[in-house]
Amino acid sequence: MSSRGAGELRPSDEGPVFIDRASNTDPSVRGNIAALGTTGGRRTRKSAAAESEAKPAAKSPAHVAHPPLGAHMSIAGGVVKAVERAVSVGGTALQIFTSSSNQWHARDISEGEAAAFRDAVAAARIVRPFAHNTYLVNLASPKPDLWEKSIGAMEGEVRRAEALGLSYLVMHPGSHVGTGEESGLERIAEAVNRLHAKFPDLKAQLCFEVTAGQGTNLGCRFEHLARLFDQIEAADRMGVCLDTCHLFASGYDISTAEGWKKVTAEFDRVVGVRRIRCFHLNDSKKGLGCRVDRHEQIGKGAMGLEAFRAILNDPRFRECPMVLETPKGEDLAEDHVNLAALRGLLA
Ligand SMILES: [Zn+2]
Ligand SMILES: [Zn+2]
Repeated sequence: MSSRGAGELRPSDEGPVFIDRASNTDPSVRGNIAALGTTGGRRTRKSAAAESEAKPAAKSPAHVAHPPLGAHMSIAGGVVKAVERAVSVGGTALQIFTSSSNQWHARDISEGEAAAFRDAVAAARIVRPFAHNTYLVNLASPKPDLWEKSIGAMEGEVRRAEALGLSYLVMHPGSHVGTGEESGLERIAEAVNRLHAKFPDLKAQLCFEVTAGQGTNLGCRFEHLARLFDQIEAADRMGVCLDTCHLFASGYDISTAEGWKKVTAEFDRVVGVRRIRCFHLNDSKKGLGCRVDRHEQIGKGAMGLEAFRAILNDPRFRECPMVLETPKGEDLAEDHVNLAALRGLLA
């Protein structure tokens, strides 16, 4: 079974496709599920096949006018605390790490804890919550032991994401560590194919994050993503997470409305905007094309506040959850300020 990227490119007006799960208590989202041919948030094989035919952006209820906004939240004190933190800043989007971001060993999440999280998400009307994987994983590693260890860690990530009812699991594609882009991309695709084979009924979609292009990080060019999707057997089971800081740092100038239009047109041509599932909204400390991953508060960096207006009001992405990953203290004061700034841009 093969799913070729080029044949799947769609005109940009068709927009992304979405998988709804814990958020299905929201009537506006339920409408979206119906549009996708799924029932009760449960995705069927049939609906997965029909997914590429769905046109949710065109069929969306008019009142779903803006993307769900929120922030990456700490799970310190338990996963439910992350939902409480999201609620405290008025967030309707949420990203978490399901374990420590820089440790191989991950603690199990009990069924009771997972159920409490799912209930809290539904009560808070958080739309399509998602996780980011641990930074240690490198599915492009040329070292067989590290590659296997990374796949093992991803299996744990997937199990936790499923237990928590998350919609997406965002992952940095990987670093080729000097062995060349092509072989690195092959190893990533092979690892994803293995994960997909191991979890045939996976509901939490894996999403490649666009990277800033630091060191030998793959995923900083749209062509990298296209190569990956070409080699992934069940490519429609995967999506993409766009990080605004990473796009800008890797040389895609999205600092103006015109730039956003151009860059998304290029993304559509090379990868397909229908693959875009979620966003990281970060300003960049460094300039365009710096290939350095340094997040800055919204409007305080090299991109500037105006850069976010076109993104937030782009109808193609109004159902994509968008989260901040900007530096902050425990009181989340920066989240309040950044979210207010973003909300101020909504048309
Ligand atoms: Zn990010
Ligand atoms: Zn980053």
